[in-house]
Amino acid sequence: MRFHKAELFLFLLMLLIGIGGFFSWAAFSAATGGIVVGGVETAANFAFMGAVLSALAVVCGSLLVFPIMTRSLRERGTLQRMTESLSVRSQSLEHAAVTDGLTGMYNRRYFDEALAEYLQAFGQIDKPIGMVILDLDHFKKVNDTHGHDVGDEVLRQVADCLQVFTRYHDVLARLGGEEFAILSPNINERQLFNLSDRIRQAVSDLRIIDGNVTLRVTVSAGLAIWDGVESGEELYRRADKQLYEAKRKGRNRVCAA
Ligand code: GH3
Ligand code: MG
Ligand code: MG
Repeated sequence: MRFHKAELFLFLLMLLIGIGGFFSWAAFSAATGGIVVGGVETAANFAFMGAVLSALAVVCGSLLVFPIMTRSLRERGTLQRMTESLSVRSQSLEHAAVTDGLTGMYNRRYFDEALAEYLQAFGQIDKPIGMVILDLDHFKKVNDTHGHDVGDEVLRQVADCLQVFTRYHDVLARLGGEEFAILSPNINERQLFNLSDRIRQAVSDLRIIDGNVTLRVTVSAGLAIWDGVESGEELYRRADKQLYEAKRKGRNRVCAA
C-alpha cells in the first residue's frame, strides 16, 4: 500500500504529538508520584522531551503538513474553476452547434431533429403539424445594390419579425442563406395560411435604413400540412414546392397545396 506524502507527514505529526503527550504525562506522573516513579530530575527530563517533541510537532505541522494542505486546497479551487468554465464552454458550444450566428435562430440541424421528434410525438396523439418555408425575394439584388452588411441587417430584421408572430411551441429556423422555416404543431391549413400571410405582410412593411436610402423587402412562402404518414423530408418537399409556386406566380405571396 502506498501512502501519499501528506498522509505520511500527518502520520508523523500525530506520532510526534502522541509521544510528546506521553512524555508530558510521564513528567506529570514522575513529579506527582504516580505510575512513573522518579525524582524531580526525571520529571524535568520527561518534561524537556515532551517540550522538544511538541516543538518538533509544531515545526512538522507548519513546514510540512500546512503547506501541503493549502496547496491542495488551492489546486482543488483551480480545478473547480476549470471544470465550471469547461462546462459553461461546452454548453455554449452545444448552443452554437444548433443556432445560427447571424440571427440567433435555430439552424437546419436543429430543425431537422425537431421535425423528426414532432412528427413522432404529434403522430401518436393524432394532431396536425404545419410547415412553412419562407424565402426572401430577389435578395441577391439587395446584396448587390446595398452590400453584404445591409443584406445581413435585412436577415436579422426578418428573423425578428418571424419571432414576433410565432408561438412558443413553434420551431423557427434559418435553414440557410435567406431561407427560413416554421414548424407549427396543432394548426389547420387556414390558420397556417393566415399566420404565413401576416408574416409576409409584416416583412413587406419593414423599413431598412441604408444611409439616406430606405429599403424594402418581400418574402414568398410555401406551406404544407403533414398528412400523418409522410416523412419529414417529404413534408419539406411539398412545402418547398409551394414556395416555388409562390415565386413562379410573382413572389410576395403565400401558396398552399
Ligand atoms: P429569389 O427571389 O428567386 O429567391 O431570388 P434571390 O436573389 O433571393 O435568390 P438567390 O438564390 O439568387 O440569391 C440568394 C442570395 O442570398 C445570394 C447570397 O449572396 C445571399 N446570401 C446568402 N446567405 C447570406 C448571408 O448570410 N448574408 C447575406 N448578406 N447574403 C446572403
Ligand atoms: Mg431568395
Ligand atoms: Mg433561396
